[in-house]
Parts: sequence; C-alpha cells; structure tokens
Amino acid sequence: DRGYAEDYNATAASDTLLINEQSRLLEEQGRRIIKFGFGQSPFPVFAPAVATLAEHAADKAYLPVQGTAALRERVAAFHRYMDGTDWRAERVLIAPGSKLLLFALMKALPASEILIPAPAWVSYAPQARLAGQHAVRLSTTFENRWQVTPEQLDRYCREHGPTRRLLILNAPGNPTGLSYEPEVQRELAAVARRHGVVVLADEIYGPLHHRGEHRPFARDYPEGTLTTSGLSKWCGAGGWRLGVLNVPDALGDELLTRLLGIASETWSSVASPVQAAAATAYSITPALEVYLDTQRQWLSAIGRWCAQRLEASGVRTHVPDGGFYLFPDFSAYREALRVRGITTSTELTETLLEEAGVALLPGSAFGCEPTQLTARLAYVDFDGAGLLERDPPATLET
Ligand code: PLP
Repeated sequence: DRGYAEDYNATAASDTLLINEQSRLLEEQGRRIIKFGFGQSPFPVFAPAVATLAEHAADKAYLPVQGTAALRERVAAFHRYMDGTDWRAERVLIAPGSKLLLFALMKALPASEILIPAPAWVSYAPQARLAGQHAVRLSTTFENRWQVTPEQLDRYCREHGPTRRLLILNAPGNPTGLSYEPEVQRELAAVARRHGVVVLADEIYGPLHHRGEHRPFARDYPEGTLTTSGLSKWCGAGGWRLGVLNVPDALGDELLTRLLGIASETWSSVASPVQAAAATAYSITPALEVYLDTQRQWLSAIGRWCAQRLEASGVRTHVPDGGFYLFPDFSAYREALRVRGITTSTELTETLLEEAGVALLPGSAFGCEPTQLTARLAYVDFDGAGLLERDPPATLET
C-alpha cells in the first residue's frame, strides 16, 4: 500500500536552491521576479530587542550551555502565557536556532523510527538521515488538510509493531499554513499516547497563528510532547539564530542530560548579546502584543486574499491558519499542463518562473510525489516595516 507510509528518501533540497538561483539569473537580466519562494519573515525585528542587542554588543562571555537562567525564565513564562502549557525554566534548552535543536533531538532520542508527514518542512528528513535514524514518510492529502490522520497513525503503529517512535508535527505548518482542528488533534494525541509515540511539535509559527488561537500539541499530550520554537518567525530574527526547546518532565532527566552533552560538545552556548536581546523579546509587554497582533492581522488579510485569488483562477488551496505559506494544488490544470509537457511540480514551478516571473517552490521539495502538482507560496514579498506602521484592514481589496 504505497503512498500511505514508506521509507523516506527525499533529497529535494536542491529544488529550493535551483529556484533561488534561477530567480537571481532572471533578475540579473532585468526581469521583475515576484519572490514567493523563500520563506523568511518580511517584518523587522521587534525594536526593543534590537535596542537591547545594541546595548549588549560588547558582552563577550561564554554563557551557560543550557542558556541563561534569566532568558529561560522569560521563555517559559512566555509560553505559559501564550499557550497555556507547562513550560518550566529548568527544562528549557536554548540553542542557535531551533533547527539545531531538532537535529540534537534526533541524535539524542533512542528512537528507531522517525515519522515525518509529507508534505513537511525540507530539513526533517535529511536531518533524520544525518542523525543515523530511520525516517518514514506518512503521506497526506489535500482533503485531509495535508495532515496525518489519527486512523493513519494508529494503523501504521499496529501494522509495524511496537518500537520507539518519534512523530514530527508542525503547526501552523510549513509548507501548508495549516493547524490541526482541535478535535483531530485530541484524537491524534490519544493515538500517540496509546502507542507510546513521542511527538516533536515544531511550533515555531505558533505566535503567528492568524486568529491568535494556536493550540499547542502539548496541551493534548503534555507528557509525550517535546516543543520547539524560537525567534526566527514571530520576532523576524532568523539570522540571530535563537531557538528554544521544552522537555516535559515525563520524558526524563536523561534526555535533557544527553541534549546538554551534545550542546556542550558542539555549539557551547548562544551568543551573549543575542541571549540578552532575546530576554527582551520574550517579555510580555503591551508593545509586544501590538507587534504580534499587527503581524497576525496583515498575514491573515494577505493570506486570505491570495487564497481567494487562487481559488478564483481554479487552483484549489486552503485558507491558511497561521504563518506565511499557502500550499496550492494545481491538479485542475493537469491535462492542460500535460499537453505542454508539464507533468511534475518542478516543471510547473520552473515554467511559472520563466513565463510569469513568479517564484514558488515545488511540492516535491517538501516530500510530495513529483507528479503531485503542488507548490509552496510564501506570501512575504512585501515591505513588512511599512505595514507594521499601518493599521491592518479586515480584508484586502482586489
Ligand atoms: N521549522 C520550520 C517549520 C521552519 O520553517 C523553520 C525555518 O525555516 C525552522 C524550523 C528553523 O528555524 P530556526 O531559524 O529556529 O532554526
């Protein structure tokens, strides 16, 4: 029964590089390219955090491997307040980016299988392979909102017998922009609990849920969920490299000890000025609430507008819940495209770039079958600094 679960062997990151390289070449020829390919926050870093960074520019000490106590306290309080989950400073680990935390976790966990939905963020599968783990792809469908269903997880675990499993979930999602319906999430959590599956919840887009209704997976499965987040998306500070992880009590001190071992032998600690600035970013203040809320409202209006425009031209897509991505499905045009020799998502995105000057990333880069005519659209090609100054509209005019 191929298509529902199989060994994950994607090496599609090259597609991403290819599109970026082609965009650059076309721009050099004077073409205007609409850059919906690269998924970087368009908003400036939260200004008070920038000021703290400047004040601490001369800080030069190595900091504790786990991160400073002051920052871990703020991070835990932020997530308790925003998410209503039990983050605690002593169980938080700070790293130079959540990407490194995901990799460290894959190294540290004694899992024998890492379950990765498809589509999913490009780095999970290569990281699993680098960590020497066995990655399994769980294919999803447009109809199921590109999400693993509780029945699918249950069936997979029953058919493949008991073993240590780590399931990676990412909501709001990259590349889909979607979150789980609360009811589906509760059922998924119940299945994970029943089969002893540990969940790695990558919730880096959580604070950018468009309606401010992010439902952390740890709320439904507190004892078995490791949660990662960081400053890259909601604080616009991807290049600062600061990620955070919460390890629940029930997963034991041993895991945290192993992670600290990996951290101390590799990255040592996050840069001192960045940790000071992050403590400012993670402090709940009225200014922070306005900063987050303004981003959410703009992203919501722009995301809904893009989804409507796609739907109006016959390309089905979901209205996003959070973050800044859409994952349209062009299969309504399959026949017309086939006549032109376009049968894969890579051929589709190459043609869109050449003929329309619009850069998207092909669905195959995210683990979809090459012939699934999907693509990721990152709706971030706008002046975020300018928009932060303006009141967001309820909807955008066409
Ligand atoms: N997880 C997802 C889903 C992402 O989209 C990204 C950013 O590209 C990351 C993790 C990595 O973020 P960081 O900058 O914290 O390493």
